[in-house]
Amino acid sequence: MKFLLVFDFDHTIVDENSDTWIVKCAPEKKLPNGLRNSYRPGHWTEYMDRVFVYLGDNGVKEDEMKRTMTTIPFTVGMVDLLGFIGENKELFDCIIISDSNAVFIDWILKAADFHKVFDEVFTNPAAFSSTGYLTVQNFHAHHCAKCPKNLCKKKVLKEFLDKQLERGVSYTQIVYIGDGGNDLCPVMFLKKDDIAMPRQGYTLEKKISQLAQDLSPVECSVLVWSSATEIMSYLKVLVKE
Ligand SMILES: [Mg+2]
Ligand SMILES: [Zn+2]
Repeated sequence: MKFLLVFDFDHTIVDENSDTWIVKCAPEKKLPNGLRNSYRPGHWTEYMDRVFVYLGDNGVKEDEMKRTMTTIPFTVGMVDLLGFIGENKELFDCIIISDSNAVFIDWILKAADFHKVFDEVFTNPAAFSSTGYLTVQNFHAHHCAKCPKNLCKKKVLKEFLDKQLERGVSYTQIVYIGDGGNDLCPVMFLKKDDIAMPRQGYTLEKKISQLAQDLSPVECSVLVWSSATEIMSYLKVLVKE
């Protein structure tokens, strides 16, 4: 039997938002107001596609974007944690479910040699066009009223678990590590024996506390973390049991 570790990416694996970090490539490291104000709630992917058109129009090339993205800092303790998971892959399956995009995550994981730690990465597909522009698409379509249009992380997790079950793989415990509002939907799907690890002081932790105050707490256990060292300590206890 194995454990399944589910990671969010932005503000969880890395200590920044990758979609904000790329703005460092823009002229004067900022976006024009008209573009910045064009974001409509729930439609982040379309907004990012416009950001990438702006970068392309300003002559920002793939290699410059890659150089910038690979300077994004990892969250404190995360390098050790991912190293530990990598050394114990017989115990842990490990996936990423992220609203960033495939190109950024691939660059960042490969540059740090962490790509083998993860069995699968579920995120918005992205690619460079023949004219050198980065383009990003919605991960999928879904009917969840709680989630942004392009991604319901619960749907991704559920489909992954169903696929694994068909292959004869089931998990002793699911550990979900994240920070954002869009991590609440998958956390609410977790069962009694699973554990949610919200990052201290971030939206997911606040939403989980609010549910508890409203007397409709999440079913799974909750362990708040502020450095990935705390997550590693928990995993070490799991491994010993
Ligand atoms: Mg996040
Ligand atoms: Zn959802």
